Amino acid sequence: MVGEGLVKGLCVTLKHFIGTYIDDIRWLGRRYYRDDALQIRQSPKARGIFTVQYPEEKLPVPEAFRYIPFLIYEVAEDGTMEDRCTSCGICAKVCPPQCIWIERSNDPETGRPIPAPTNFYIDIDICMNCGLCAEFCPFDAIKMDHDYELASYKRVENHIFDKTRLSRPVDYYRSIRPSDYALEEAARAEKEAAKAARRRGGSS
Ligand code: SF4
Ligand code: SF4
Repeated sequence: MVGEGLVKGLCVTLKHFIGTYIDDIRWLGRRYYRDDALQIRQSPKARGIFTVQYPEEKLPVPEAFRYIPFLIYEVAEDGTMEDRCTSCGICAKVCPPQCIWIERSNDPETGRPIPAPTNFYIDIDICMNCGLCAEFCPFDAIKMDHDYELASYKRVENHIFDKTRLSRPVDYYRSIRPSDYALEEAARAEKEAAKAARRRGGSS
């Protein structure tokens, strides 16, 4: 019959339309803006509408998702922040669109360079989220963030991130990338153990 496919398609649309109201009643106002409800609506169990009501609802991003880089700092026992970054400049060298600028620090007394950045800038409109800076950093000091809601109307004020804007505590890194964090910590512990063994061997 001519138009049979069209009628079938409209029936599917109508079924989803009605199913949305039935599911709304079944969930009694809990259908939207909840992580558990979203998981069901994104699964084959979904009835009715299954689109994500962004920005009120957001799909969780996978651990490997990468957006803009951030700098990691450790919090010492006395509460002071210690940047992992040594301002070695490797990330700036490997960055394909050259959107990283680093201001190195100098010792105020000797004037000689010290391994710490005074400032660190990334132009987030130029960054192409490739992750090479994070891959090449020898100190695990720069990592890729999950935060993708960065739109604003003021490019110069809001889209050139400085060190303050880029810095995040190591706990934040652990929370968004637990597997990478665990692997790196295990490698670090192994390295420290090997170093300690070498020292013991040397002193005996
Ligand atoms: S983030 Fe890493 S690669 Fe970049 S300057 Fe700092 S220590 Fe070097
Ligand atoms: S993610 Fe890629 S483009 Fe962005 S700052 Fe790092 S190296 Fe540069």
